[in-house]
This record gives sequence, structure tokens and C-alpha cells, in this order.
Amino acid sequence: MSQAADTIFALSSGRPPAAIAVVRISGPHARAALEALIGRVPEPRKAALARVRDPHSGDVIDEALALWFPAPRSETGEDTAELQLHGGRAVIAAVLAALGRIAGCRPAEAGEFTRRAFENGQLDLTRVEGLADLIGADTEAQRRQAFRQLKGLLGDRAEAWRTQLIGALALVEARIDFPDEGDVPEDLIAPALVLAKQLRDEIAHVLADQRRGERLREGLVVAIAGPPNAGKSSLLNRIARREAAIVSPFEGTTRDVIEVHLDLDGYPITLLDTAGIRESHDPVEQEGVRRARERAAGADLVLWVMDAATSGEIPVEQLGREFSNNTKWLIWNKTDLISALRVKALKSIIHKLDYRCYFISALTESGFDEFLGVLAEHARQYLGSGEPALVTRARHRRALEDTVAALGRAVAEPSPAREDIVAEELRLAARALGRLTGRVDVEDILDVIFRDFCIGK
Ligand code: GDP
Repeated sequence: MSQAADTIFALSSGRPPAAIAVVRISGPHARAALEALIGRVPEPRKAALARVRDPHSGDVIDEALALWFPAPRSETGEDTAELQLHGGRAVIAAVLAALGRIAGCRPAEAGEFTRRAFENGQLDLTRVEGLADLIGADTEAQRRQAFRQLKGLLGDRAEAWRTQLIGALALVEARIDFPDEGDVPEDLIAPALVLAKQLRDEIAHVLADQRRGERLREGLVVAIAGPPNAGKSSLLNRIARREAAIVSPFEGTTRDVIEVHLDLDGYPITLLDTAGIRESHDPVEQEGVRRARERAAGADLVLWVMDAATSGEIPVEQLGREFSNNTKWLIWNKTDLISALRVKALKSIIHKLDYRCYFISALTESGFDEFLGVLAEHARQYLGSGEPALVTRARHRRALEDTVAALGRAVAEPSPAREDIVAEELRLAARALGRLTGRVDVEDILDVIFRDFCIGK
């Protein structure tokens, strides 16, 4: 580890001013930093009340709770100190400035505490990702999944598989290294292949999860589409306003697509309003339209909104063409403008279609609760049914697919299997699992993973 000699510090709590601010210090000079700031080192893992002073002037900056976690029993695996200060900007600025003047101490970079935890073996890579997801979780279901990941649901399984594989590999290599030794049994390759087949089937089963984990991380993406003036924006606004737990209203607004992230009964939903999608001759606008189309075409569910008062025609062809791969629901809006008789007539037309249909009024909210209930149930089915998913990222999936492929090739070796080939495939499989947990070959992906963390984490 190149920066091992550095001691890093950062504000680890949220944006000041706040009641409390947590400053963390990690590295070989953490002890010296504590001594400089509070004049002593508290008992390990016991909170101590302390005066925090500027080491140069001796002025008292604040009174704080101080904690001391000597290596290796700390989050980073290094000597770590934590100060719980009053969360004012000037307090924090004074403490950070004082720390910066202590020899060997410097401000931490984004994710650097967690990176040290990984490098010191406190967290494997899947746990690091679980931690990132836990910090980013917007809904209950995402939080539960992230917490399971942080606790090693996937990491521990992968490590157990890898250990088994290495055991099998050792058997095969014993035959290669000592082909003539009397006490090495003749057939070591058969039990290795039995294990390879068993692991291949087990991991293939884990992969056959309909991408539940990845989907839950991303949320259910719902595109609201349909002809102009059908009431798409009104519907979006209505849903957004009614749902108390809007996660980030109108964040990520682009010229053509408005996104609303919301929490529907604990499940994450991203609503896309494609109201801006229309033909244009302006090249810039065309690009926007193309992107909006692409985003909508990738949605998990398309709500095609129709004006019940004016249109009786369902653009079946257009729907099939634009959204060939999506689940589509028809939303007949503005039912406040039409008679019960017309509703009945419309129902008889759509009877013959495969799409689910809902009759609502974005204005009066008639039919709206029922529709929201169905949407929530759809999200629950789509994101949350079945056992907890182990795979939550494309990275995990690729590593496990590589493992399964290598094991498959080992198993497929014609009998009598060549020991060197089987050994090589088992090695490749173990290596793919090692990449998953971050034991091997990961330098190139580390920066990508830690970049997403904030400073102080
Ligand atoms: P968009 O172009 O599809 O986004 O449609 P808007 O949401 O902008 O709605 C077009 C017009 O229809 C606006 O004047 C809305 O106030 C009106 N509107 C939307 N929903 C309803 C509804 O349920 N009932 C009635 N009467 N008017 C509606």
C-alpha cells in the first residue's frame, strides 16, 4: 500500500451545521494526533469526554467525545480515532486545520477509509459494494439488500466456493507434480471433477435469478408515454404529489425526459415523463429525442396514457413498434369528462387486447388509488419476490459467469480427462471468484468502485 505511512482525516458526518460532527483519523499517526488535540489517548473503544485544543496556541476549540480504536480492531484495520464534536462550521474548520498541521496527517480522499479497510482485509469487495449501496439506499427493500451484501451474503459464499475449488485444484496438481509417487492415489481427478460439476450447478442456480438483485438496485423504471395532451405530465405530478416519500423530485431533469424517483410501499420506482418526445428538425433536439426514446424503450413498464374523451383508437402498431420489449399498460385518463356509458364502450374495445387497462382521472383522482395499488403490487412482484438475491451488480454476474464457464469446460473434458487442462480450468474458475471478492486482479476496478464513495467514508 503506497500511502501506508500517511495518516488520513476527514469529516465523516453530513453537511454542517449539525448537532454533532464526526471527524475520523486513521493511520500510524492517529495516536499522536489524539495526544496533540486532547492531551491523552482514551481507553480503547470507550467514549471519553475531552477538551479539544489547538496544539499550537493551546486554545480550547471545543469539548468532544473521543474514541480510540487501536489496530487491527478498527474499521480500517489501522489505528483509528474518532472525535464527536459540536457540528458548527467554525468548530469543524478549526479541528481540521489543527489536524492538517500535525506531521504525517493529511485530508482523506473520497472513499479512502473504506479503501484502507479493503486493503487491510477488513472488507472484501462485495462488502465494500454493499456499504456503498447501503449509503445510497433510498427504500426499505434496497436497504435490506445492501445490508445483506455488507454482511457478506455473496462474499462469504464466493470465498467458500473458492476454497473448495482450491482444494480440488490441489488434488489435481498433486497428480501432475508427483505422477509416479506411490502414495498419491491414481484417481484424484474424478473427485475434483465431481466437485467442479457440483459447484457449476450451484453457481448456475444462483445466476438464474431473473436479475432480481440488479433490478432492485436500479428500481422499477416506468415510462409515461402517449400522445400530446393526454395527461402524462398531470399523471406524473399526481403520483409525485400523492406519494409522501418522494426521494428526489424532478432530479435529473433533462430537456426531454423528467425523472422522479419515488418510494412506493418500500420499493424504488423511477418515473420517466416523456412528454417532450416529439419529432423535430433541430439536430440538437433530435439527439434529445433519440435519447428520450432510448431511455423509455428500456423501461420495465410503459404506461401509455390516452385521452378517454377524444380517442377511441389504440395505436397498437405504434405501441408494438416503439415498445416491443416492454410490459405495457393502457391508462385511459380524463374519465371525468366522459359518461359511464362511454367507459363501458371503451372497456368492450380493449377487452380484446393483451394490455392491462386502467380508467382514471388525473384531475379528480377517480380510479387513482386503485391504479397506484396495482402499480405498487407490480413493483413488489417485479423487485421483491423470491429469496434474497446474491448477485446485485453486473460485475458479480460477469465473474460468476466466468466461473461457471471455466467449470463447464473442466467438466466437459473427454475422459480420461487431461490433468493439466482440468487444473487450468479450475485455476481460471478460482481466479474469477477471486476477482469477485477482490482477492486477485482488481487494481483496474478499484478506482471505479471507490470513486462513488464520499469523503470521510
Ligand atoms: P401531456 O401533454 O400528455 O403531458 O398532458 P398534460 O398533463 O399537460 O395535460 C393536458 C391537458 O389536459 C391539461 O390542460 C390538463 O389540465 C388536462 N388534463 C389532464 N388530466 C386531466 C383529467 O383527468 N381530466 C381533465 N378534465 N383534464 C385533464
